[in-house]
Amino acid sequence: MPPPTEPAAASADARFLEFRTFSIRLGLMVAAVPAVALLLHWYLRHDLDRHALLAGAGSTLALLIYPLAIVFGAPRRWLPWCMVGGLASFMLLIIWGLSYLPDGYHDSLWLLLYPMLFGPLLGMPFGLRENAEKLVLLLLIPVLAARAIPAFPLLQFYVMVLPALMVSVYFKGMVDRIIEANHAYRQQIEALANRDALTGCFNRRYFMEQATRLLKQGQRSGLPTSLLMLDIDHFKSVNDRYGHAAGDLALRAVAQRLGATLRETDLAARIGGEEFVVLLPDTAREPALTAAERLRLAIQDAGVSVPGLPEPLRVSASLGVALTLADGDTLDALLERADQALYAAKRGGRNRVESG
Ligand code: GH3
Ligand code: MG
Ligand code: MG
Repeated sequence: MPPPTEPAAASADARFLEFRTFSIRLGLMVAAVPAVALLLHWYLRHDLDRHALLAGAGSTLALLIYPLAIVFGAPRRWLPWCMVGGLASFMLLIIWGLSYLPDGYHDSLWLLLYPMLFGPLLGMPFGLRENAEKLVLLLLIPVLAARAIPAFPLLQFYVMVLPALMVSVYFKGMVDRIIEANHAYRQQIEALANRDALTGCFNRRYFMEQATRLLKQGQRSGLPTSLLMLDIDHFKSVNDRYGHAAGDLALRAVAQRLGATLRETDLAARIGGEEFVVLLPDTAREPALTAAERLRLAIQDAGVSVPGLPEPLRVSASLGVALTLADGDTLDALLERADQALYAAKRGGRNRVESG
């Protein structure tokens, strides 16, 4: 039975979209900071010089690179570089701007904390852990700045930045762990929602969803699709004679036979109490009949050991097979024909295969 890959992929996509939105919002917030700082400075002191203005405006633009790249759909592999490039330009512009301030760098060093603090967060959806070299690059920028501007207080800078960076990396790790746990939990829930609790087979809802898709796929590529419908014979009397718990064990054994006998690409599901269906993509009538017969024998030959019973319990099943006839054949029509064939198998004496 194929694993339920579709919902897992959908959840990964939803997760990426959540990150994307978060990243854009955070990116825009960070980018707004130099502009707001500039406005505040102007409002409070009215002494903005040309360099501060250029540094402020330039650094705002630099920080916009990353969110804009996401908004305009830049390829995913470019995004970490847009982030690092934006932050690097931001830092260099700020350092350049600060070098013109009469009171040196000390008052405004906090500004430099920004990219360091938010760098790992901005890179969150794109795995900064896998981009350690970019983080190293960010840490090296002040060293380069110190070489260009001899008065740059490199030691003080790292003393301020490193604890903040450690906190932010810790925070990112924490968020990552929560997200991973959530993701695993979500996958578990999705898998449970698609399966029947007793047998572990896919349920009717999942079958209808996936079978419709597989049938259309087959019709598009001009391939035949077959459907088996299986019903355990005299199952009511199995329950009556050996008890409901023994009946449950027999149901699980049939489901297990289904899994062991069919191909990976076949889609099997429990659609009723003791009824199962299997969609066989790319399968014409003859191979479908062969598969049905193999399944019938596997069920007939499998003994189910039931606690308290001296002999293994044996059940048999009747099967109806239907094949897609025309391009417009729907799943409902296919199910209806398989059901009629199954009915014929029951009338014909049970423990047999009929085709419609
Ligand atoms: P037939 O050969 O005509 O199919 O006879 P049948 O007795 O199998 O058919 P019927 O539909 O009358 O009975 C189905 C029985 O399946 C009735 C119900 O008690 C049993 N059943 C349905 N779901 C479960 C289940 O989850 N566990 C158990 N143990 N029995 C179940
Ligand atoms: Mg039945
Ligand atoms: Mg039955």
